[in-house]
Amino acid sequence: MEMHNFSSGPSILPPEVLQKASEAVLNFNNSGLSLIEISHRDPSFVEIMNSARNLALELLNLENKGYSALFLQGGASLEFVRVANNLLKVDGKAGYINTGNWANNAQNEAAYFGAVVEIASSKDKNYSYIPKNIVVPNNLDYLHITTNNTIYGTQFKDFPETDVPLVCDMSSDIFSRNLDFSKFDLIYACAQKNAGTSGINLIVVKDELLNKTRSIPNIMNYKKHIERESMYNTPSVFSVYVSYLTLKWLKDLGGIAAVDRRNLAKANLMYSEIDRNSLFYGTAAVEDRSTMNVTFFLKDEKLTTTFDELCLSEGIYGVKGHRTAGGYRASMYNALPMTSVQKLVEVMQRFETRFL
Ligand code: PMP
Repeated sequence: MEMHNFSSGPSILPPEVLQKASEAVLNFNNSGLSLIEISHRDPSFVEIMNSARNLALELLNLENKGYSALFLQGGASLEFVRVANNLLKVDGKAGYINTGNWANNAQNEAAYFGAVVEIASSKDKNYSYIPKNIVVPNNLDYLHITTNNTIYGTQFKDFPETDVPLVCDMSSDIFSRNLDFSKFDLIYACAQKNAGTSGINLIVVKDELLNKTRSIPNIMNYKKHIERESMYNTPSVFSVYVSYLTLKWLKDLGGIAAVDRRNLAKANLMYSEIDRNSLFYGTAAVEDRSTMNVTFFLKDEKLTTTFDELCLSEGIYGVKGHRTAGGYRASMYNALPMTSVQKLVEVMQRFETRFL
C-alpha cells in the first residue's frame, strides 16, 4: 500500500534522500566503507560538513553576509539553552513571545540562565493565534520568537519590528517559504522536519552577535563551534549527511522559492477542505494558519475511531494531533507530495458522505 506520511517529526524525507543515505551506510562514495564507520576527520566527511553548512547559507540567501552555519547536537531543546548562554548578559534580559508549547519551553529554559520577560503571549486562547502589534522594549539582549507553532498550527506571517537582535526557532518551517532571512540575527532549527533527520540542529548566526559572550563552556559556545568548523567534537555524521542530501535536493528542486509555491498550494487545498467539510473544523486563527502543520478536529468526537481506522486503511500515517492538543494534525513539510494531501482530502470527503 502506498503510504502518505503526515508525521510531525521525524518526518517524511524525499525518496532520493533515503536512497542515497542508505547507499552511504553500506558503501560511502565507493570507498568500500560505511559512512558511519569512517572518521569525521576523513576529508570526504569534512567536505560533506562544509557543503552542508554552505548549502544552508546559500538556500537562505545568507552567503557572504556575515553569517555562519553550524550543525550541532542536542535537538532544538539544547538551543533553547545555548541561545541564552551565548546572548543573555549577566545583568541583561531577554524577551520571549509565547506562541506555543515550544516557545514556552524556550522561555523557561532561558530563565535558568538569566532574566527573561514575556513580551506577548497567545496562551489565553490556547495558542490559537499569533499576537499582533507587539511593542518590543529596546533594552533587551534579544527577542526570541518561534516562527511556526508545530503543535497548534499557527505561524508568524509578519515579524515584530525591533532593533534588538531577533532570534528565532524555525524548527518546523525553515526552508519552507520565501522570507528575508537577513531580518534574523540567529536562526535555529532541529533537523527532523525540513532539514534532514533527528540528531542534529542547524544554527545560522550573525558572527558579530557573538562578540559579547560571557564565560561559558566550550560545548555551549557558538564562537568555539564556528572556529572549529562545526567539528569541535564528533558530529552526528549520519544526520549531517542526511541534511546535506536534503538541502541538495531542495537546491536542485529550485530552492525555497520552488517549495514555497508547492507548500502554499498544499495548505490551500487542506484548509479549503477543513472549511468545507461539515464533519471537521479548525481552531487556528485564519490569518495565522500554518502552511506546515494543519490542525483540525472532528465536530463529533464519537467518530474518532472510525476516522482513525479509515486513515489507517488508506495508508494515511501520522495525522493524530499532539498529545497535549488532541484532534488531528497534518504535517505537510517540503518533502510531502501534493498527491498525499489530495489523498487525505479525498478520504475526508468520503468520510463525510458516510456520515452526512
Ligand atoms: N521547537 C519546535 C518549534 C519544535 O517543533 C520542536 C520539536 N517538534 C522543538 C523545538 C524541539 O525539538 P527537539 O525535540 O529536537 O529538541
